[in-house]
Amino acid sequence: MRVESICIVGGGSAGWMSAALLSHEHPDLEIALIESDNIKPIGVGESTLQHFNRFLKRLELKDEDWMPSCNATYKASIRFKNFRDGKGEAFQYPFGDMDREGDMDRMDTWIMRFFELQCMYGKDKYPPEDFAQFINRQTYLADAGIMAREMPGILDREESNWDLDNDTSYHLNADKFGEYLRDNIAVPNGVHHIKGDVHNIIRTPEGYIKSVITLDGGCISADLFIDCTGFRSLLLETHMGVDFVPFNDMLFNDSALVTHIDYKDKETEMVPYTDCVALSNGWVYNIPMWNNIGTGYVYSSKYINECEAELEFREYLNDQDCQLMPIKIKHGRHDVAWTKNVVGIGLAYGFLEPLESTGLMTTHENLILLSDTLSQRDRIVTKHDRDVFNHQTEKIIESMKNFVTLHYTLSCRDDTQYWRDCTETIEFGKFEHGINEATLIGLNDYRNLLDSLEMKTWESDNMGEGTIYITAGMGIRPISEAFFKEKRSHEEGALQAVKDAHQAYQKDKEIMLDWVSKQPSHYEYLKEHIYV
Ligand SMILES: Cc1cc2nc3c(=O)[nH]c(=O)nc-3n(C[C@H](O)[C@H](O)[C@H](O)COP(=O)(O)OP(=O)(O)OC[C@H]3O[C@@H](n4cnc5c(N)ncnc54)[C@H](O)[C@@H]3O)c2cc1C
Repeated sequence: MRVESICIVGGGSAGWMSAALLSHEHPDLEIALIESDNIKPIGVGESTLQHFNRFLKRLELKDEDWMPSCNATYKASIRFKNFRDGKGEAFQYPFGDMDREGDMDRMDTWIMRFFELQCMYGKDKYPPEDFAQFINRQTYLADAGIMAREMPGILDREESNWDLDNDTSYHLNADKFGEYLRDNIAVPNGVHHIKGDVHNIIRTPEGYIKSVITLDGGCISADLFIDCTGFRSLLLETHMGVDFVPFNDMLFNDSALVTHIDYKDKETEMVPYTDCVALSNGWVYNIPMWNNIGTGYVYSSKYINECEAELEFREYLNDQDCQLMPIKIKHGRHDVAWTKNVVGIGLAYGFLEPLESTGLMTTHENLILLSDTLSQRDRIVTKHDRDVFNHQTEKIIESMKNFVTLHYTLSCRDDTQYWRDCTETIEFGKFEHGINEATLIGLNDYRNLLDSLEMKTWESDNMGEGTIYITAGMGIRPISEAFFKEKRSHEEGALQAVKDAHQAYQKDKEIMLDWVSKQPSHYEYLKEHIYV
């Protein structure tokens, strides 16, 4: 089929992201977007991943242009608190490259070096919480609540490889981002904006959608239909009958209570990271935006009901008055994202609970794939293209599912039935080697772990690094002290290298702590560069 016209159903962030990208990259396509005035967009979706920069670049958007309209702030990391022991411990998963050495082979040595230091100097001096800082100095920005364009060089390198434009992502109001794209890209590019509630479709004899029908009698025809109707999945699931594949055997959280709270002190509370804090039956997110803080308790209704969750969340927030909005999470993906002439994008295709901020990420990555697929052969697409697209979209969300599941299975918590089930009952479908081997055999098993989770096949570096941060932060050591003694204690040169690393790290820490103390806060940085 040749695609000359597209009809997008849904005007949430996924709908307008689709309209903006496709109208920008395919200016001769005829595009219409139908949006219901009666069904509001979901109203959450505030934390993004580094990949978001790809989407911004494709649209040639500059921070100072779009950020002020979307209450956006920078995000350098995700912090996980109470996921390992539930005793107040917290570790960062910073974005950007691991920056001790340039290439990944030597990175192996540095990753290993941290665990050797742990063996030589003890876990008090080198706790799992310090792994991120040791391997990626962006962690200092997050911990200190600052933002900066330049960072001091390291070791024998005069310049650090820190790059604010690529190594951060954003906290933002996703609905406002959709509106920004609508007003500044999609509609100016000629996207036809239609208000209406789609309630029926007309099919071709082959089962393709010919037109969608709105409640007020409108009939909109197109070659390709993009379903952005959120969890309803009106076209893909209801009308095309594509099966839903739930993820609740591996990820238990199916409910959320969400709200926004006011700042008490922007200087200290506007941290450049998403804070995730584990509670009794799930976890709470804290997302500092420019105007307020998005927060919510994401929990499993199998273990705690809404009233109990509300009590626990209010106690955590120390706020009895704020308005909480309950959300039911439809957790999983559809069997395929693209069938015949219907593609599901955003929640209409699938959703992983938001622990790793993957909602908008799967949205824009799938969208970029779709736009590239249309470009390949001047918008002629066949079953082959759909199959390749479906393979890739499934891989992205399945890889992320495994990655997010690790945050639970690696926990040491056993204080509630929820945590006991998270740590004792989850089966990894694609997990050939098992986590315990990784603790015994050494660093290479971190690599095997990635292979077995199929993480290296998509955006391999970022995904692989993510797993390493989480695995290390959750306390897994790829070498035991006995292994260290057996392998290293007879090699004077090797021991000296560990001692040298200790000296270099302590020196670097001193430099970095001194440097961060002289930088403007994240809030000050935004006032000076974005919200001028
Ligand atoms: C608790 C929670 C926390 C989240 N946190 C994050 C996060 O931190 N980071 C992140 O990236 N993502 C997060 N997400 C996901 C994020 O909310 C979504 O990815 C994002 O907002 C995209 O939503 P959407 O556009 O697919 O759907 P929606 O926002 O639900 O939009 C659906 C649209 O379809 C329209 N519509 C529906 N039916 C019809 C119809 N019959 N006719 C016409 N129009 C119709 C509606 O009017 C609406 O415009 C979170 C989700 C949840 C549930």
